[in-house]
Amino acid sequence: TQSYDSLVAFGQKHVTKGLGRQVEGVMVKGEGSYVTFGDGKRFLDFTSGIGVTNLGHCHPKVSAAAAQQCMELVHGQCSIGFTTPYLQLIEKLIPMMPDKSLDSFFFWNSGSEAIDAAIKMARAMTGKQNIIGMQGAYHGRTYGAMALTKSKTVYTEGFHPLMPGAYSLPFPYWHHLGTPVSTSSAELSAASLNQLNLLLQQQSAPGDTAAILIEPVLGEGGYIPAPHEFLEGVRKICDENGILLIIDEVQSGFGRTGKNFNIEYSGVRPDILTCAKGLANGFPLSGIVSRKELTDKLNPGSMGGTYAGNAVSCAAAVAVADAFKSENILANVQARSTELFDALHAVKSNPTTREVILDVRGQGLMVAVEFASPTGTGEYDPFRKPGTPARLASRVAKRCQEKGMLILTTSVYEVIRFIPPLNISSEDLKKGTQIFTEAVEEVVR
Ligand code: PMP
Repeated sequence: TQSYDSLVAFGQKHVTKGLGRQVEGVMVKGEGSYVTFGDGKRFLDFTSGIGVTNLGHCHPKVSAAAAQQCMELVHGQCSIGFTTPYLQLIEKLIPMMPDKSLDSFFFWNSGSEAIDAAIKMARAMTGKQNIIGMQGAYHGRTYGAMALTKSKTVYTEGFHPLMPGAYSLPFPYWHHLGTPVSTSSAELSAASLNQLNLLLQQQSAPGDTAAILIEPVLGEGGYIPAPHEFLEGVRKICDENGILLIIDEVQSGFGRTGKNFNIEYSGVRPDILTCAKGLANGFPLSGIVSRKELTDKLNPGSMGGTYAGNAVSCAAAVAVADAFKSENILANVQARSTELFDALHAVKSNPTTREVILDVRGQGLMVAVEFASPTGTGEYDPFRKPGTPARLASRVAKRCQEKGMLILTTSVYEVIRFIPPLNISSEDLKKGTQIFTEAVEEVVR
């Protein structure tokens, strides 16, 4: 048997360097809100595998449903026939959709593939080419999704040329737009919508624009909910110009923000909705949902994929949907969200740490803290300049790890994001916020 250190060294030697890694270790067991590494270190998991294990690691009913399906039929293949779990899943999802018009389903494996499928569908369904996304957005690493990913250049550097026809506009958040912190959400929305109108007149005419692609909560770009005025304004512009609205709920969907889908907060109707992550609690599965009237325009055989909508993943997702209801997950999200915000606001008002906290924001259990890096001149500098040493967010995340909690940073700004399991206990949530509070105090001291 190999020693743990030599196993890690083996991985470092033989796994591509193109993967980043937060912990140089081997994960061997996940239970609820905890994950254990092969050296025996057990962490409270505030990453949920990047917003995936919403019902905790190895939820017994989800794992059992997948195991059962493994004994019945592992691989059916969506272009050969339906499978029972595939259809059962659609039955479960229909009543969860944020708009009744969303009645046509197609499943893939990953969020990136769902985005690529949505782009292809929007192009085929409108006969137009261009897609407008948001600065700061993350949609994935495949070529279509990557062209609309504008959160960090690390995802695109060296990989050009990207898919043509991808445009973007600034997200309605004050320092992304360069406006004062006091700017109202109506003013921020108006500024971004103005940019959209300009884009449609200067760069991509409505007659060339197939779709606008938006994360209702900017995800990897810093966990910033889009103001409802902005989403409503985009919907109106889409309606007036024959442009489709694609809402990317890969990260914000399935209860993450306190509703089944985040877009419910604004009531805005998507033409295409993409989801993944929490859908199957860790089994690879994504969904692209649209209107039958639109998807009927696609040529039979034009969509598909060997593993797309795998039967085991669908069976797991059916169990997720059942657990969601029977375990009253949305109620837990509401209760834990209040506790999380209370704890983070306490850090924001704490005399030793308040200076470095710029913002506490988010919805449900998709919450972020943005740090203000002291510049020494009393001014606020939101950017981590390329090549400068790690500043607050990554130091705090590292300190949390030393104290037994895994937590993620995100975006080019100084942001830490909180994405614990949606069924986390009050006790574990408190433990996590205490670790975070101490970590911030120790780092700024
Ligand atoms: N869209 C959003 C909003 C995401 O957060 C992500 C993943 N972080 C993706 C798309 C891509 O999903 P995947 O990594 O499964 O390809």
